[in-house]
Amino acid sequence: MSFTQTPPTLGDVYDEDAALRSLLSRLLPAGVLAEVEPSLREMGRLSAELYPAQLADLPNEPRLVQWDAWGNRVDRIELTPLWQRAERLAAEHGVVATAYEREHGAFSRIHQFALAYLFTPSTDIYSCPLAMTDGAARALLDSGNAELIGRAVPHLTSRDPAAFWTSGQWMTETTGGSDVGDTETAARRGDDGRWRLHGRKWFTSAATSQMALTLARPEGNPGGGRGLALFYLETRDEAGRMNGIRIDRLKEKLGTRKLPTAELTLDGAVAIPVRGLEGGVRGIAPMLNVTRTWNAVSASALMRRGIALAGAYARERRAFGAALAELPLHVDTLAGVQAESEGALHLTFRVVELLGRAEVGELDDEGRALLRILTPLAKLTTGRQSVAVASEVLEAFGGAGYVEDTGLPMLLRDTQVLTIWEGTTNVLSLDVLRALHDAGGLDPVVREAARCAAGVRDPSLGPPVRAALRAVEHAAEWLRGATRAGQPALQAGARRFSLTLGRALEAALLAAHAQWALDRGDPRPTAAARRLAAQGVDLVVSTSEDDSRLLVDGRAAP
Ligand SMILES: Cc1cc2nc3c(=O)[nH]c(=O)nc-3n(C[C@H](O)[C@H](O)[C@H](O)COP(=O)(O)OP(=O)(O)OC[C@H]3O[C@@H](n4cnc5c(N)ncnc54)[C@H](O)[C@@H]3O)c2cc1C
Repeated sequence: MSFTQTPPTLGDVYDEDAALRSLLSRLLPAGVLAEVEPSLREMGRLSAELYPAQLADLPNEPRLVQWDAWGNRVDRIELTPLWQRAERLAAEHGVVATAYEREHGAFSRIHQFALAYLFTPSTDIYSCPLAMTDGAARALLDSGNAELIGRAVPHLTSRDPAAFWTSGQWMTETTGGSDVGDTETAARRGDDGRWRLHGRKWFTSAATSQMALTLARPEGNPGGGRGLALFYLETRDEAGRMNGIRIDRLKEKLGTRKLPTAELTLDGAVAIPVRGLEGGVRGIAPMLNVTRTWNAVSASALMRRGIALAGAYARERRAFGAALAELPLHVDTLAGVQAESEGALHLTFRVVELLGRAEVGELDDEGRALLRILTPLAKLTTGRQSVAVASEVLEAFGGAGYVEDTGLPMLLRDTQVLTIWEGTTNVLSLDVLRALHDAGGLDPVVREAARCAAGVRDPSLGPPVRAALRAVEHAAEWLRGATRAGQPALQAGARRFSLTLGRALEAALLAAHAQWALDRGDPRPTAAARRLAAQGVDLVVSTSEDDSRLLVDGRAAP
């Protein structure tokens, strides 16, 4: 009766992350790495320090207070203690600001997202408001609206917690989050010349933000996405009163439970058009590109956290006379998820690298096309990987992985959202097709895979390189055939096609990195590349629409 299990503990979150450190050593020039590394090490230390606080905070959840004692409608959301701390720490450590201060030019995005990657797993999805804040800053800057840029961007990119603002991104309505063309929120211009919004926003995360970018249809505009405009609004006036916004309730969610996600009614919210009275979907696209990148960074970060904890547990927990870390099948299981997480990390930071270069004007047309394609690809691929990895991580703890007060189930619940918000896997797969169409075909992806392969010399990396190139070729062949067959065939296979491209590029990028690491005496990334490829990168199969219809609703295809 005296035996108790040893809980997993976190070591040094930055120094022990061999995959991240190896990647940063290649991506950043030595001088830049030397300058940014103290902040990364500090963030790693902070992340380890916050982890016990996160566990202690498990029972707490945000609370909506709609009325004060005297009958006044106040709609105040009380945040959990860790969230309150996270807001201050995020500002002070420049988790958004670093990208905009741009001390290291294009490399600042890599620095910033490395900070975000270390910060995210210990802060209960505070990454969500940070992602939208970063995205709002990007969208406002791209809009060229000098007044709004001057008003909001200094707050969004501030390191001073008292001045720091977060932003919401209010798109989803009851009519649909994927197809925002049916947005019902109306924008009406009053006699005072000001625009006011009327409608209902069905999912608004971090409803405590000081501002939001949102879509609405100016009166008289046509239906569909074309008639939507992008609006800027501040949630409260200077006296702290809500700006024509009611918080109807907080969502009761599977995960991300510390993140207050609200249903809102806009009842005359004063708002300012960001860039004219139409083209709102185009206007919000820069925001989505940034939030999707944050999603991929969060997926990679949560995978890393789960694996770090599972590894620590495996060294302590014994079964059949040995530590789990000595049992061949357990080692094999952990190696499998480690390879998935490293593939995700490399694809994600390729997007980050390209985003940083795009922001300083270093990308040519092909680079911009590649970034456009890789952004949804990385989001959808890593989102799905994170759910599979989190599930495996829970199983690696046995029953403890299923027990709430270990904090482990939260990992699985929180990763599940990464496949849903910012575009589901299906919706982003269709977006990949659109991006390829705009790019005039698959060439940017084919050349990216070939560029990776060209740098690889070591025969041990032959299998991942061949697997990646074969999968891209197979995907290209499928694309040609499906394009000939027409829209239903293209759409039906889009998800397998996109996941194949995502996984193939992960294997190619990992292999290229592995060669770089081998040249410096480090064989670890080679093992990751080989294992990822062995787990399969090509998911393209041929299916029949008839079979699918029969399986889903028992009817033959029309
Ligand atoms: C925790 C949480 C927080 C959120 N926070 C916000 C927020 O802050 N702001 C915001 O705007 N939204 C937010 N959302 C909403 C989220 O972005 C949407 O739920 C998501 O975009 C999907 O929209 P939907 O729920 O309307 O599903 P639907 O659009 O109805 O989709 C239902 C299913 O249909 C599939 N589907 C849709 N279209 C197609 C197609 N053409 N082909 C194939 N399959 C398709 C989808 O993949 C999905 O599986 C949040 C959601 C969650 C869960």
